[in-house]
Amino acid sequence: MKVFFAARDALWDAWAPSLRAACPEMTLARSGDLAAGDPATFDAVIYAPGWPEDGGAADFAPFVNARVVQSLWAGVERIVGNSTLTQPLCRMVDPGLARGMVDYCTGWVLRAHLGMDAYAQDGVWRNDLVPPLAAERSVAVLGMGELGRAVGQALGASGFRVSGWSASGRPVPGIAVQGGAAALDDVLAGAEILVTLLPDTADTRDLMDAQRLAMLPRGAWLINPGRGTLIDDRALIGALESGHLGHAVLDVFRTEPLPPAHPFWSHPGVTVTPHIAAETRPATAAAVVADNLRRAMAGQPLRYLVDRARGY
Ligand code: NAP
Repeated sequence: MKVFFAARDALWDAWAPSLRAACPEMTLARSGDLAAGDPATFDAVIYAPGWPEDGGAADFAPFVNARVVQSLWAGVERIVGNSTLTQPLCRMVDPGLARGMVDYCTGWVLRAHLGMDAYAQDGVWRNDLVPPLAAERSVAVLGMGELGRAVGQALGASGFRVSGWSASGRPVPGIAVQGGAAALDDVLAGAEILVTLLPDTADTRDLMDAQRLAMLPRGAWLINPGRGTLIDDRALIGALESGHLGHAVLDVFRTEPLPPAHPFWSHPGVTVTPHIAAETRPATAAAVVADNLRRAMAGQPLRYLVDRARGY
């Protein structure tokens, strides 16, 4: 099996050993090696954003015999509409990724819940500020996919009142899930802490606009490790300035890296983290890739196949 590593060269050292260990029967080649081999000879492509390194558009057309393009990222918005990508596209579902997202969201939800920022080291004894118990705090998670489910269930296990929202409204044990656009207002109205874990698609872009932000309870926190496009940046600043929202923790942005002059960097109501909520970890993800490569070679159903029409 011959596989092309369509990712930045900087990722090679982290990924190649794990991928080769998980799939010893594979011959793995990277960009520089392409001159040595006709793209038509590759059986599969492993892709990560940042390829090609010259900033040009990713061109999958020469890989005419590739049976799968396996993304190393969970979000595939950068290539799902690429017209040269005619091969089946699979996204990343990795236990390490989910664990990282659970840790990130749990940490920031607890900061919001416990009001950790309220107890300044300024000599003031604020013993009137007592946080409620988790059971008295409502958290809503938009997106009940691989990551939203894991986050919602972990928060539920910590005692929070968790509600969820997805396109289908598919039930998730331990979470009160609602589905479809009509249910969103209700979910938002009950969310003292909102976690957005939706993909970037035509349907989710600007979902959290001024009107929807206004539906959150006064003082609510917004934690967005999903995608920057889910939120209307100006509307968010407006909701923070008016005091309607308590705080926003943002990991993802319309432009990344977030430009130094962007108001999010200097706004006291915003915490910026640099798209580090959850990394795909080679140690756990290489086995997921190997499984799908073998499935592709054996003509078996692929796992985590992207629905090109829905965009995720
Ligand atoms: P997933 O398994 O594909 O789940 C997506 C969820 O969003 C599903 O529950 C889906 O509903 C729901 N959804 C999609 N479109 C919707 C719409 N228009 N209205 C309501 N619900 C909608 O994705 P995942 O693995 O959980 O990942 C979610 C996102 O997290 C990724 O797309 C990526 O953008 C982001 N992410 C961020 C980081 C980071 O480091 N910040 C890391 C990894 C991933 P159904 O269940 O009904 O299909």
